[in-house]
Amino acid sequence: MKQANNDDIRRDILESLFSAERILIVGHMNPDGDSLGSQLGLAKALERRNAQFAIINEGIIPNNYLFLPGIDAVRSVDEINADGQEFDLAVCMECSNRDRIGRVDKFIHNGCRIVNIDHHSDNSKFGHLNLLDFSAAAAGEMVYELLVAGGVDITPEIATNLYTAILTDTGRFRFNSTTPKCLRIAADLMEKGADPSHITDMVYFNQSIGSLRLTGEVLLGLEYHLDNRVCFMTITDEMLQRNNSGKEDTEGLVNYTLRAEGTKIGALFSEREAGITKVSLRSVNDVSVIEVAARNGGGGHKNACGCTLNVGIEEARVKILNDIRELLHGSI
Ligand code: 5GP
Repeated sequence: MKQANNDDIRRDILESLFSAERILIVGHMNPDGDSLGSQLGLAKALERRNAQFAIINEGIIPNNYLFLPGIDAVRSVDEINADGQEFDLAVCMECSNRDRIGRVDKFIHNGCRIVNIDHHSDNSKFGHLNLLDFSAAAAGEMVYELLVAGGVDITPEIATNLYTAILTDTGRFRFNSTTPKCLRIAADLMEKGADPSHITDMVYFNQSIGSLRLTGEVLLGLEYHLDNRVCFMTITDEMLQRNNSGKEDTEGLVNYTLRAEGTKIGALFSEREAGITKVSLRSVNDVSVIEVAARNGGGGHKNACGCTLNVGIEEARVKILNDIRELLHGSI
């Protein structure tokens, strides 16, 4: 059977979006800038067409994204009763597999069609319509192309959301996922009303004092292994409490693990709940850590991925250090 190309898929998705009765928009658990910006960019476009939709996510919205236009519409899965919530279309944004939407899955009943929009190369194509582009720097870039294909007027609100998605998933246009195409899209979004200076300030330079002090404590606790090629960062609930901070203040901290000269791999260990540890993995361009995430049931991109281990932080650190040692010795 001939593989549909992305132009055809975009057309089918637009038809589905414009004919659906009620749309569920969802991103991956613990939303980040790309997931939120992409969901809200799409939502703002649907709003202009008077489409009925709800945005439901699992996990805390990081404080630095509370400025995004439309953010108040993002509901937590914990505050909505699934009874009586009927959707005939679900758009899953930036999820490499269906598990990534977490408990929001309970809102997707039989008969609900699923649109999967993602740029992770390990995407399992779990949707009825799968818009995948592994060369896209961010899902926000793909939503931009979708809206342009649909002739949607890009308003300043849509532009702000999509610009934020691209800005954050490229690490401020720094990662090697940054392409001329994504810079052109960012430039167009600026012309359509996104304000790069304001957005960068809101995302990166608007921290609470507690979260700055948390950063200080976290940096003091950095640990280096394997000749400084590996850096481990740990954030415990006690550290959050001590610094009057919450999980919503930890966004982006993992990137400090790659700051030291010669460090190739970074890992952040944080407590999800007692006995469950979330691991965020990062690596420099020429090293892939996705094998470590995949080996532990996670996934993502080659230089930025994650997994969740059903053990406490100490055990998780031992396991991940062993896996990284094997990775660096070429045995995984
Ligand atoms: P973070 O470490 O910031 O949570 O995530 C980095 C990247 O890896 C993101 O693209 C995120 O979607 C992906 N990711 C994080 N944890 C998981 C996981 O458990 N499974 C999969 N498939 N992807 C993950």
